Amino acid sequence: MTQAKQQTHWKNYIAGEWCDSIGYLEITNPATSKTFATISAATVADANKAVDAARVCADSGVLTKDRPAARSQMMFAIAQNIRDIAEEGAKLLVLENGKSLDDARTEFLTAARYFEYYGGMADKIEGRSIPLGDDYVDYTVYEPVGVSVQIVPWNFPVDICARSLAPALAAGNAVVVKSPELTPLAMTLLATACEKAGLGIGATKGALSILCGVGSDIGAALVANPKIDQVVFTGSVPTGQHILKNAADNATPCVMELGGKSAAVVFPDVDKKQFLESVAWGIFFNAGQVCSAMSRILVHEDIYEEIVADIATLARGLSIKSGEAVELTPVVSKDQQQKILAMCDAAVSEGATLVTGGKALENKEGFFVEPTVFSDIQSDMTIFQSEVFGPVVSITPFKTEAQAWELANGTDFGLVAGVFTNDLSRTMRATRALKAGQVFVNEWYAGGIETPFGGLKLSGFGREKGQEALYSYVNTKNVAIKVNNSPD
Ligand code: NAD
Repeated sequence: MTQAKQQTHWKNYIAGEWCDSIGYLEITNPATSKTFATISAATVADANKAVDAARVCADSGVLTKDRPAARSQMMFAIAQNIRDIAEEGAKLLVLENGKSLDDARTEFLTAARYFEYYGGMADKIEGRSIPLGDDYVDYTVYEPVGVSVQIVPWNFPVDICARSLAPALAAGNAVVVKSPELTPLAMTLLATACEKAGLGIGATKGALSILCGVGSDIGAALVANPKIDQVVFTGSVPTGQHILKNAADNATPCVMELGGKSAAVVFPDVDKKQFLESVAWGIFFNAGQVCSAMSRILVHEDIYEEIVADIATLARGLSIKSGEAVELTPVVSKDQQQKILAMCDAAVSEGATLVTGGKALENKEGFFVEPTVFSDIQSDMTIFQSEVFGPVVSITPFKTEAQAWELANGTDFGLVAGVFTNDLSRTMRATRALKAGQVFVNEWYAGGIETPFGGLKLSGFGREKGQEALYSYVNTKNVAIKVNNSPD
């Protein structure tokens, strides 16, 4: 059974069934601050049930018994089902998350792309043969890890869910997804899309569960469950560190996609129009709630004043329902809004210059924060070092190239970095000097689902997206065979 449209109460999808629980969580529209729906709050018993079913499914071998091309076909069918519900899903995602309709639609279409991309790889997971002379035959095979537990944040719930789910399914795993408390509704449509393609029901019952509940409760129980084989976590650094400690008891392998404080380095030969478009996307898209947001900008002193003024004009020009590519949208919750505003106040008390913003949007019911620009930021200030996760950018001047790289690398994070220049040699020096999992040149968020993504330092480890991600969801097994070369 799938969940009906226009509903106000949602269930969890546990091992092929849509389940209610005793309690529920309320879902609030960030644009109006009104509660508009509820979802069952899964219990630890529900989480255990999902893992038990996934374990049985993974151990039965049903997900890998056929030619991998069958898995590819299933993935393509899921992708088409996601495309078919993209419009309905996008509207729901706007309601629970506050993002623009265009961005929500893109999120569903990106989710479909993940299934197409990894569907195309499902029949190409090939091992290699290792020559050891005539006395041996040696080869490697990639086997699914088994039961993959995936914990998803609220900023791009549909995209991030598909980002981990698609490669895991392509590799033949059973998956239990824990959705975020604030935005779990649109994600349930991914279960609908999989169910419609036949995954998780009948012989493959248990291959997929998507359930919502309190993170410190069912999230922690999923991580601690000894029957799982992997944790894929996308979220904040403190939660990630907590999960790593929890997973250590069973030595459960983890993929960690954590936060960022990423810097764009801007030189005087920059194409200014191109750069300002990147700033609009880089820090104000999705109200800045992007792990790889351009939250720091380092500008050469020769163009510093001019760039600060241009970014302030850009920030002041953003509006709600502007019809522009980047709209002013609310942040996800009252708590998030208060946290961002408190960080802005703290920045001012530490001596940062507030150029524009720094307040809640006046006369708005929802959780809006004015697009905010700080200048004269020193590297020892909290606003330079800590993730805000809101529409807040900090601008710092630099004199020399060496100083720019040192500032860019001078936080505990290492998710992405960027350089804006038309000098090819400088670009090459930048790509070597910047310590990050991905370096953008002359366009923030360049790349796509095909390009590997992940962090260094406190930004995490393991890679999502691209071909690399598939290998986060398999174990390498080596088979070493002794050949008897004396037949008689
Ligand atoms: P969060 O850490 O608060 O929560 C993430 C998920 O973890 C939620 O589903 C939550 O319920 C669950 N959780 C909470 N406590 C848990 C526990 N003890 N055990 C298991 N699960 C638990 O993060 P958030 O506020 O939802 O997301 C914002 C953060 O995510 C930011 O720091 C952002 O940078 C990061 N993020 C990273 C990426 C990436 O790809 N690197 C992408 C998106 C967001």
